[in-house]
Amino acid sequence: MSDQTAHSLPFDVSQTLKRSESIRRERREMRTRINEYLEDPLIARLHEEAMSAGSFVPITLDLTHVCQLRCEGCYFFSEQLDNSKAPKDETVFLEFVRRERARGTNFITVLGGEPSLQLERLKILHENFRCTTVTNGLRRIPREGFEGMGIAVSVWGDHEIDRDLRGAGKIDVFARALRNYKDDPRVIFYFTVSNANADGIESAVDEIVENGNLVAFSFYEDWANRGGEFDQTKGYARALREIYRMIDKHPAQIVTTAYMAEVAAGRKMLDLTWGHDMCPVVSSGYNPELDEWHGSAEWRRRNKERLSNGQPYHPNHRAIMPDLESVRRCAVGEESDCSKCHNAYARYVWVMLNRNKHTRTRQDFINWVTSAWTFCLGTGAIDRNRASEVLPRVHELTRSARDESLI
Ligand code: SF4
Repeated sequence: MSDQTAHSLPFDVSQTLKRSESIRRERREMRTRINEYLEDPLIARLHEEAMSAGSFVPITLDLTHVCQLRCEGCYFFSEQLDNSKAPKDETVFLEFVRRERARGTNFITVLGGEPSLQLERLKILHENFRCTTVTNGLRRIPREGFEGMGIAVSVWGDHEIDRDLRGAGKIDVFARALRNYKDDPRVIFYFTVSNANADGIESAVDEIVENGNLVAFSFYEDWANRGGEFDQTKGYARALREIYRMIDKHPAQIVTTAYMAEVAAGRKMLDLTWGHDMCPVVSSGYNPELDEWHGSAEWRRRNKERLSNGQPYHPNHRAIMPDLESVRRCAVGEESDCSKCHNAYARYVWVMLNRNKHTRTRQDFINWVTSAWTFCLGTGAIDRNRASEVLPRVHELTRSARDESLI
């Protein structure tokens, strides 16, 4: 359109046309930049593999209200979320599966309680959805019938700290998990780091690698108010330094990239700052006929506000309670303070849904594509048997995301 034509149009129409043309130009330029980045065979391969996993339509589900442990700092029991009981009636569970399939859900992060205590129902979920099951590792999820499932085993420190925080000072949960999942390709051990357990990261990671498993990192949130070095508001500098060292020591077995560690430990992603107004995993799309809202009217209102603020989110996402009907604010409990939240899943989804923001430079795109690829690896959508061949190259690509002041 010539300038002359635009000038003859009413002002607002002319402005709208100019805006549309500018958006189209930006999109064209973005596509050109992406095509240039994809000329690199490794970036193209990671992109291709992540895209072949298809789109994720996720929910989180507390499969049961029961657990063998009472870990210190676990939001589930500290907020009495176990007051919501899993139904005994199998038909209620099967109806839930049918309902979620009909809604288009194709990916479930299975939480709890402890999901391995409900193996029959877990198997049905695995047959109907792609699942990542988060487990304390005390009870083994058998291979038969659960082939290809993503299993995330939690570890909260070296043997001593883990026993202290999770095993009531008695049970060596970490040692039992290692025994149960030796050389199991379905498993990634998620080591939850804080500055308090930073000194134990190396020995624990060495042991996990020796056990034939992959390692990822998540970030401890001090909901039990232990304070001191456990307090996440003081940052994770010591822990991050150890994560970088572990990436260098075991590049073929560490799944978390320097970029994801930075985003999850900090509060920034490019020009955005983390908070509830950014969170992509708040529950959305309540159906008043089906869902019971668990929690305060205030959080329901704030979630709705969040979902209309223009920041990307998963429209299907719900955090479903053990009764299979109640929906709560987000994957963690309502009392958790969003400004202190470092939930690794929420941060991953934040990065993934902000692809367009990660196209300005080649390094931004690398940071995005490696996050998408490692996320898919975590869900089991990418074959973990080939992970060790690719991961060292992924870490080389993301080395520059490290916080130089910590090195
Ligand atoms: S606590 Fe974390 S995951 Fe939950 S709504 Fe707040 S920012 Fe999101």
